[in-house]
Amino acid sequence: MRFNRLLISGSLLSLALLTAHAEDAKKAKAKPKKVYPTGYTDTPYLPGGKWRVHDDTRPRPEVVTPGKTAADAPSDAIVLFDGTNLDEWIMEEDGSPADWTIGEGYFEVPEGGVGGYLRTKREFGDVQLHIEFATPSEVENESQGRGNSGIFFLGSYELQVLDSYENKSYADGQASAIYGYKPPLVNASRPPGEWQTYDVIFEAPKWDAEGNLLKKARITVFHNGVVTHHYQDYLGPSGHKKVANYDTVQETGPLKLQNHNNPTRYRNIWIREMDYTAND
Ligand code: MG
Repeated sequence: MRFNRLLISGSLLSLALLTAHAEDAKKAKAKPKKVYPTGYTDTPYLPGGKWRVHDDTRPRPEVVTPGKTAADAPSDAIVLFDGTNLDEWIMEEDGSPADWTIGEGYFEVPEGGVGGYLRTKREFGDVQLHIEFATPSEVENESQGRGNSGIFFLGSYELQVLDSYENKSYADGQASAIYGYKPPLVNASRPPGEWQTYDVIFEAPKWDAEGNLLKKARITVFHNGVVTHHYQDYLGPSGHKKVANYDTVQETGPLKLQNHNNPTRYRNIWIREMDYTAND
């Protein structure tokens, strides 16, 4: 008897629940669906008169599939080193095959003062660059003799690579400095031997047809995720113990890596060719 009563009250409860669910579903159906337009054709024009605010006819951005992490190459990047070969690189002096030493997943500046700079076979203008480096774990020298290398945009505009971990050297020669001009905003260096990252936005200088400079080279840098330059200009192509200037018309060029006779390592290098005016 008791069992039957329980069974009946249980069934009644299930019925009540079912009815409540059905009513909720009905309510949800009755709620009018809000319409979200994909854009507008009657809004005011933005400055320049090309596009309206929220313009429905304005081209949507190209889809790029990002890497699994921010360090991985996105789908539209050119991989300049995938850990296995230097096919994208040649020797700067004579264009012969790159002779830097390849290790497990990295390559490094050859020891013993041999070899020269590396440069990419391709030439670039405006770019986004991701590059990882490690200065030698064994500290041998001091100041500019510790893990010195460098990344040269257009083959000329240096972003300094150095072991700047507890290493006193001139401020405009530290890791992440615009060599000979601007020190990084902060020193975000990791200890010798540890892998470090640069994420860079570089804008090439622009000239008019008569060779007048229209726009200086500019750079934004994250060193190990820490901003060290924000839209910083260059005085011109980098040099040692001299003030740079824009005496050479050059809007594109290879990416160059410096051989400063310190066995600094590089890995995971990818670059994206950019048009920063694409949405103008
Ligand atoms: Mg250097």
